Amino acid sequence: MNYNKKTLNDIKVDNKKVIVRVDFNVPIKDGKITDDKRIKAALPTIKHLIDKKCKIVLLSHLSRIKSLDDIKSNKKSLKVVYEDLKNKLPNTKIIFHENNVDPNLVSIVNNLEEGSIILLENTRYQDVNANGEVVKLESKNNPELGKFWASLGEVFVNDAFGTAHRAHASNVGIASNIKESCLGFLVQKEIEMLNKALTNPEKPVVAIFGGAKISDKIKSIENIGKIADKILIGGGMAFTFFKAKGYEIGKSLVEEESLPIAKELLTKYADKIVLPLDSRCSTAFENNAPKIFTNEQFEKDYMGLDIGDKTIEEFKNIIQKAKTVIWNGPLGVCEFSHYEVGTLKVCESIANATVNNKAFTIIGGGDSAAAAIKLGFEEKFTHISTGGGASLEFFEGKELPGIASIQNK
Ligand code: AMP
Repeated sequence: MNYNKKTLNDIKVDNKKVIVRVDFNVPIKDGKITDDKRIKAALPTIKHLIDKKCKIVLLSHLSRIKSLDDIKSNKKSLKVVYEDLKNKLPNTKIIFHENNVDPNLVSIVNNLEEGSIILLENTRYQDVNANGEVVKLESKNNPELGKFWASLGEVFVNDAFGTAHRAHASNVGIASNIKESCLGFLVQKEIEMLNKALTNPEKPVVAIFGGAKISDKIKSIENIGKIADKILIGGGMAFTFFKAKGYEIGKSLVEEESLPIAKELLTKYADKIVLPLDSRCSTAFENNAPKIFTNEQFEKDYMGLDIGDKTIEEFKNIIQKAKTVIWNGPLGVCEFSHYEVGTLKVCESIANATVNNKAFTIIGGGDSAAAAIKLGFEEKFTHISTGGGASLEFFEGKELPGIASIQNK
């Protein structure tokens, strides 16, 4: 999808009231942030606005809010992010406001010092009302909510790629009700990178798909298949393809309803799709020591939980010649130490292709990005997307509402 959207470089933001939708949806354990990557990723935009002496209103969601308990427990409060942000920006005045629909916010923002920040509480607190009813004002883009948040500023900056595939009040709602809007530096970079992989990529192009469900990724496989020279399939989804080919897959994960589309893809991309040659298997969905079976040896009491060594070798050979690599989804059950091998080895091969073959390499978020981080390879890829779902929809060729709603240049 080619966008021609305004960016921060196209808008004079100096001294203005600027609302920024950031993605502070960070993992939290025992009240502590376990990975602050997303906060760091938002800093270039925030620092730019501080330099331009803006009054900055930050909005973000954190996880999902499904009940009053979610709110009252404070487990999904952005307060912990507020504390972290203060450490990251020690010279900036930052305040936190718990009621993100407080009518006083209009004057509070007006009275902010230039170059200072107000972080509002989790936007998804508006998904549940005071009676505990799930109303989804944020997630279903309630027009009044978007209008209210838009009334707090003069410019809207969307810098949350992770939610760009959703039309929520805090992105589309604000963008539709404000005079000026643009993309932040993070979203701008995401679009540039993903577009580069999709539009005239240097060949050979290798796409790698893994993960549990083929149904989530079919459209992506179909669209990327148009430009890819090879499509490597691993993870649980490989077994739906195997079943479509009539192979024994034992107790492996299968999506019966996706069998027809799997057959279709196997015909349409017959010379491109590469399925595993062997699998690491277990009799139960547990972290037991694996048995490796070739496709012909597969026993019916077993389930495939990772790719085998022959497959790793085959995938490695293909990846090392690639000039463009797009990867989405783990090749096995990466949560189990016995079944993370395929994911880690493929991750390593892609990192090597980036370094040794100067390949342009993109990782599409989620478990794949986690594998790269686990190996300490974060810097060895051209781009690790901050949005798993958003990058998948981008690769499907779909318009992302959070981006489409921003003004054109
Ligand atoms: P996704 O969100 O679709 O990328 O799927 C990620 C999930 O796929 C991870 O939680 C993995 O444990 C799971 N997964 C990967 N390979 C397999 C497999 N062979 N069988 C079952 N689950 C798998």
